[in-house]
Amino acid sequence: MSPETVLAAVDAAIASPFSTDAFDACVMQTYGRFPLALERGEGCRVWDTQGRSYLDFVAGIATCTLGHAHPELVDAISDQIRKLHHVSNLYYIPEQGQLAAWLTANSCADRVFFCNSGAEANEAAIKLARKHGNTVLEAENPIILTAQASFHGRTLAAVTATGQPKYHKGFQPLVQGFRYVPYNDLAALEATLAELDAAGETVAAILLEPLQGEGGVNPGDRAYFQAVRQLCDQRRMLLILDEVQVGMGRSGQLWGYENLGIEPDAFTVAKGLGGGVPIGALLVKASCNILQAGEHASTFGGNPLACRAGLAIAQVMERDQLLANVQARGEQLRAGLQELVDRYPNLLAGVRGWGLINGLVLRNDPNVTPIALVKAAIEQGLLLVPAGAEVVRFVPPLIVSAAEIDEALAMTERALLAIAGE
Ligand SMILES: *Cc1c(COP(=O)(O)O)cnc(C)c1O
Repeated sequence: MSPETVLAAVDAAIASPFSTDAFDACVMQTYGRFPLALERGEGCRVWDTQGRSYLDFVAGIATCTLGHAHPELVDAISDQIRKLHHVSNLYYIPEQGQLAAWLTANSCADRVFFCNSGAEANEAAIKLARKHGNTVLEAENPIILTAQASFHGRTLAAVTATGQPKYHKGFQPLVQGFRYVPYNDLAALEATLAELDAAGETVAAILLEPLQGEGGVNPGDRAYFQAVRQLCDQRRMLLILDEVQVGMGRSGQLWGYENLGIEPDAFTVAKGLGGGVPIGALLVKASCNILQAGEHASTFGGNPLACRAGLAIAQVMERDQLLANVQARGEQLRAGLQELVDRYPNLLAGVRGWGLINGLVLRNDPNVTPIALVKAAIEQGLLLVPAGAEVVRFVPPLIVSAAEIDEALAMTERALLAIAGE
């Protein structure tokens, strides 16, 4: 094809109406997609290519902190892209310094490394743990402990860290040096440590989510995390938290660890940090700020555009006191979901979560599976996302209003009745 023909074909493709068949003919089938194409959003609402509107309680999976088309985010990134959107980390990037200053002033951490996603942030954390093991603990093959039912991303080391066999299948050999322990189970952790001690192994770090998101919205247990903190101090293991989903305000505190009464040595952030603009970060305390020049890098990490997005999110969170909204709307949502549980005890088993990450736990009615409920909710005009085999997750933008929570609850009930009656 001549260059003119190629360009004409691109123009034609852009101009043609959306078709799922045309999409599936050229995009890899790595996702199970709902037959829905979204093209516009405003606040907590999105519109599909047919013009139908939906209340968005997925928010790009716990990512669009300020919902869609938020004026401050739009202005910040528009302004930045006109000035300078990307330069290399060979140079100082002022916006990166400003975002790092805000993050360190508002967390237990002292230094930040920027990247582009949750998996990439966890890769950095895994390298940090390895370096701590190799240099501080002088172990050649240090072990990293992670939890069963955890989720840390899909790159090879992050998926190895993910304690769910279904994500490992077909990708052997995985990365060496990971062991899994049951979440929130101190006796099992102590037993695993004793076993590894007896085998002469060195554990460099334990990597945990403060609340397991994808694995089923399982909040961490305070007593467990406090005991893990003590074990880490005694054994010079790093306690690394994956705050990719709950960090940046979603838990009702800025960081998930604040709900647990502990401080990690390091933690990772991504989803909510840029409000939907890709950005991730590894944050460390000064005591484990051990990655040196040349040891880790990312071409896009911390570029002016992504950091400006992060700064806009931080500014609006502070100015509009979003944490108070997250707490109040979260309580309202949990109370409403609990009423549904009380009304339909044969279908629903309970509600759990923090702030604006909440899970509705289903019983084993064959008609009322997470996927079936999510599909029925789409019919009602509500977007929800499954979490594990028995939970439906509610993760709206942090700006969600009381009226929108009530609307979502009513739609959830209608969706439930629609499938339960089958
Ligand atoms: C989503 C998620 C990740 C992976 O983030 P990506 O940006 O998809 O790589 C890692 N950890 C947790 C806890 C997550 O929820």
